[in-house]
Amino acid sequence: MIERDYYEILSVSRTASPDEIKKAYRKMALKYHPDRNPSNKEAEEKFKEASEAYEVLSDTEKRQIYDQYGHEGLRGSGFTGFHGFEDIFSSFGDIFGDFFGFGGHSRTGPARGDDLRYDLEITFEEAAFGKEAELEIPRTVTCDVCGGTGAKPGTQPITCPACGGRGQVSRSQGFFSISSTCPSCRGTGQLIPEPCETCQGMGRIKQKRKVSLKIPAGVDTGSRLRLRGEGEAGERGGPPGDLYVVIHVQAHDFFEREGDDIYCKIPIPFTMAALGGKLDVPTIDGAESLQIKKGTQSGEVFRLKGKGFPRLRGYGKGDEIIQVIVKVPKKLTKRQETLLKEFALLEGETSTPNEEESRGFFKKMWN
Ligand SMILES: [Zn+2]
Ligand SMILES: [Zn+2]
Repeated sequence: MIERDYYEILSVSRTASPDEIKKAYRKMALKYHPDRNPSNKEAEEKFKEASEAYEVLSDTEKRQIYDQYGHEGLRGSGFTGFHGFEDIFSSFGDIFGDFFGFGGHSRTGPARGDDLRYDLEITFEEAAFGKEAELEIPRTVTCDVCGGTGAKPGTQPITCPACGGRGQVSRSQGFFSISSTCPSCRGTGQLIPEPCETCQGMGRIKQKRKVSLKIPAGVDTGSRLRLRGEGEAGERGGPPGDLYVVIHVQAHDFFEREGDDIYCKIPIPFTMAALGGKLDVPTIDGAESLQIKKGTQSGEVFRLKGKGFPRLRGYGKGDEIIQVIVKVPKKLTKRQETLLKEFALLEGETSTPNEEESRGFFKKMWN
């Protein structure tokens, strides 16, 4: 549990309204969200602090205990704070949905269904050209055998005797009377004596549903496609949630991607580097002829305009950037060796490295 003052953490007054508290937390959660601050310890701490402060101050009962008895009181009531991010996200799933524009539940009226996330892996080429995909999405739909009540047709759910239908039970502990979710009915306030056989009393069933999806050319890992109304069924006739398809692009053996540009390294023989020549290079559209100029150095880059990825937002395409690596042969035939020795002589060199020149070079470098 965090020992700092919760009001101070969220920078709100002790009389702040629930709305002000939510706004303050929203601001901090957006700023310090771990997705936006990967491996930033300080942000992690701030995010945890703010989340715990929000957990307490947004809950009327916890806030009351804290106002009266402080951290000690919360500890007495069994509150322990969060145990890592998982814990925060599972408690606050809805609110992050609201914060990050995922939609989420509305607080009044029939509850909207949950949003679903589906992770889809595609190849490098599919990301470049786009793809029509058919997905099988497991999702929850209202059980039509029992109409969502969970009771076997012809029977009715009964009011939970343990909590009298409130879904909450109270017990005394120290100074307080503490309410918790009723363990008999798990907070629903009802018990189902004869559960519906189709849904085992859940009122909803999992179903696979085919969804077709058009993946636009130019998507990258992390691109998120939204399909309205393809999420989970709503409760009590509420609207369905949305489906978010998150793209993961597989690595390519040869190409690398940066933004809309494609990078690759191509080895060329040292004779071509010296004499110049034409080279067939791979692009995502197929082989392309590249003119290597005379006297090309190892590491030099060539740019093929418009051979990159289509721009997802806007027009045109990125480029392909080719870095040539000059390869020196490891083995020479007798004849090649003779020719190269002759070449070296013409250059005014001997076949051993020119010591005078090397010394000069290193002298300059160290100075
Ligand atoms: Zn059912
Ligand atoms: Zn109950």
